[in-house]
Amino acid sequence: MKLFLIFIYTISLNLFSHGKVNSIDEFEDIDRLITFPDTKNFVVISSDLHTHSAFSDGHVWPNLRTAEALRDGIDLLAITEHLELQPHKNDIPHIDRNRAYEIARDSAEGEELIVINGTEITRKFPPGHINAVFVKDANKLINIDRSKQPEVDEYIEGLPKDRIQEYIDEPWLNDGVLAALWPIEETLIEAKNQEAFVFWNHPAWSSEEDSSDKLLHEIHIDLFKQNLIHGIEVVNGIWFSDEAFQIALDYDLTIMGTSDVHGLIDWDYLQRPNGHRSVTLILSEDKTEKSIKDALFKGRTVVWYKNILIGKNENVQEIINASLSIKNANFKGNTNVLLVEIENISDANFQLRVNDGQLIENNPNIFSVAPHGITKIEIGNSKSTKVNLGVDVLNSYIAPNMHPSIVLSNL
Ligand SMILES: [Zn+2]
Ligand SMILES: [Zn+2]
Repeated sequence: MKLFLIFIYTISLNLFSHGKVNSIDEFEDIDRLITFPDTKNFVVISSDLHTHSAFSDGHVWPNLRTAEALRDGIDLLAITEHLELQPHKNDIPHIDRNRAYEIARDSAEGEELIVINGTEITRKFPPGHINAVFVKDANKLINIDRSKQPEVDEYIEGLPKDRIQEYIDEPWLNDGVLAALWPIEETLIEAKNQEAFVFWNHPAWSSEEDSSDKLLHEIHIDLFKQNLIHGIEVVNGIWFSDEAFQIALDYDLTIMGTSDVHGLIDWDYLQRPNGHRSVTLILSEDKTEKSIKDALFKGRTVVWYKNILIGKNENVQEIINASLSIKNANFKGNTNVLLVEIENISDANFQLRVNDGQLIENNPNIFSVAPHGITKIEIGNSKSTKVNLGVDVLNSYIAPNMHPSIVLSNL
């Protein structure tokens, strides 16, 4: 009897812990934590709002996404399965499109990670793929109308045979195409009814895949004007698009960067020096979901991508000014050369170029301030210990080919 009880006890412990994931243990290298300080005006939320699991075309269980996010110090995570594309349907035939989210959310219980519901609406380009996050019910964003089957047959017939041969008889392919025939506008009106935040995914590689000669089409402009799309991925995974960046600025869309991970973050990003996943830093009033969502709608984001900060000028300035400061400034002996220590409390490896003509001694006028490091420079011809040094921040962009400028000051 006792043995039996022990058996039951062990089993149930295992059952209860099945969905849970471990956070960082003492042996873990914590350098992978994404760290940016809060700014003068905002809390900085690191987010990855585009990830996949085995519930669509990803290769891991949703709780692995939670585990990775905890290891990376992510504050806000969305698992955004393709609604229409379920290539593992023979193995994971789950009809509920909220399921991946629920598993990830439950596995993050008690952790400082907010998991929100989201989904990827998948259409041929244009408009291409679109993410809706903070959705209330992903099931309402899919609509299969069987009367459209003849259109599906015609479409599948026209697909390049070599690329789809192994899937051609799979029911999920048929249903995926059928689901994608629901007009995008109607789908996004449902997303709007759910008060979702909606952004256009990887415009550059979508247009390339579907052999379109340009990114921006009338349908996109129309969806922006109707306020059905609020943001755009300027960065998706390891890709960055200047053209998408310009569209964001022209149409006042929220600038987004995501991992779009399907496999493992470690394999995709962390095998490079200073590797980190692509994320969106959100400048929020506080850590509540409500404030974070509000910040997304107001466009307060900066993308952190391959050691580059990308965003609208005012947002990038917030992050840079919070990260860099003058720690010390003292004259070198009896000279008029000022020794200045610049401290960086963020993960960015700042590359700064003096832009106001001040004379930098024993150094080129371009210098770096390492992540969580201090750089000493010498400013010649100084009259007092007050520093006012104008620099361009070369590892940051506020428009295609344009760096932000800040003044480093201890006034
Ligand atoms: Zn996509
Ligand atoms: Zn995706």
